[in-house]
Amino acid sequence: MKKKFFNAKIYRNDTATEMIVEDGKITHIGTNLPKCEEEIDLEGKLVMPPYVDPHLHLDYVYTLSELGQEGAGSGTLFEAIELWPKFKETLTVESVKRLALKGIKDEVSQGVQHIRTHIDVTDPNFTALKAMLEMKEDLKHLVDIQIVAFPQEGMYMFKGGRDLVEEALKMGADAVGGIPHYEPAREFGEKSVHDIVELALKYDKLIDVHCDETDDPHSRFLELLNALVLMEGYGSRSTASHTCSFGSADDSYAFRMMDLFKKSKLNFISCPTENAYLQGRQDTYPKRRGLTRVKEFLESGINVAFAQDSINDPWYPMGNGNMMNILDNGIHLAQIMSPEEVKTNFDLITYNGARCLNIQDGYGLEVGKRANFIVLNESSVYEAIRKRVDVLASVRGGEYLFKRKETEYDISLEL
Ligand SMILES: [Zn+2]
Repeated sequence: MKKKFFNAKIYRNDTATEMIVEDGKITHIGTNLPKCEEEIDLEGKLVMPPYVDPHLHLDYVYTLSELGQEGAGSGTLFEAIELWPKFKETLTVESVKRLALKGIKDEVSQGVQHIRTHIDVTDPNFTALKAMLEMKEDLKHLVDIQIVAFPQEGMYMFKGGRDLVEEALKMGADAVGGIPHYEPAREFGEKSVHDIVELALKYDKLIDVHCDETDDPHSRFLELLNALVLMEGYGSRSTASHTCSFGSADDSYAFRMMDLFKKSKLNFISCPTENAYLQGRQDTYPKRRGLTRVKEFLESGINVAFAQDSINDPWYPMGNGNMMNILDNGIHLAQIMSPEEVKTNFDLITYNGARCLNIQDGYGLEVGKRANFIVLNESSVYEAIRKRVDVLASVRGGEYLFKRKETEYDISLEL
């Protein structure tokens, strides 16, 4: 059956106000389109492709409160990594699924339809990976999930870590992960970056590395990762997550590197709330806030997206899957609120994330693409961001995943 969604304000499209959907795909987009059997009035609201959360740890969500360990300590990154094995030993396939489902529901109910999740594979039983591979299939009607084989405790710091990553790729993980700044010496961090690229090429997988998630400006695994994917022509299939240390790099180095990032087409993911919380812990004042050079990446045409990273886990006690919250924090920390910048700020949680995930061919509001979109409770981009508006509806394959009412008042404020 043909369906027409009309009276829409379509993000990054100044003319079209209507879309026709048939068999789950967008068949027309424009104005004054032919009549359809079913017509849905979107009341002038802003319509955009679904939010993308390109970096989330679904095997960690809610472990902080639900598994009742001793809490997240003082809240530094390295301390949380040390705490994690105690949590990990209590996981079962069922517990991972139960908690991950809560996290997925948080995200999907707020407009996310694409999640890239890092799953810890420094576990010879692959408990979390097995759970997530099943969930990925079972939840296809709600959300597209990409799985990164992530060696949380290191490829070398954890004995046999590299081989576990390889095994996870054979089991069906979509991307190779890594954590070079956590390896016990620079040499092993570098070795792990070589391994990551070799494994990706060998198994035809994407790359997404937790890279230089430290304030140490001498942590430069990003330089090596970029060089390797540049030489292999693999940058657009590769992502460097976090890259906090690049926010502490001096300009002469940073601008030389940004030229090389442009050449390689490497993607970046910044987790603004998480890293604002975790970084700068050894600083007194001025205190760094953990952000990579988001503003300069955008100005240079280097692809960068924002992500949630954690929901209530040993790394970060907050988080609720609301990408609008991530965007709001991110544009403050990155100082990107000029009228020109605001026009495309939503790219940071939509199109740019889709590029990191390499799904851009099937993503977006264009004829021939899947009819996946969300409806925001505002008609202008600026007002939507300023008011941090809710997602009123999420549509997938032309069908509503959910639809919510605007807030109603029992007693409204009168002025
Ligand atoms: Zn992460």
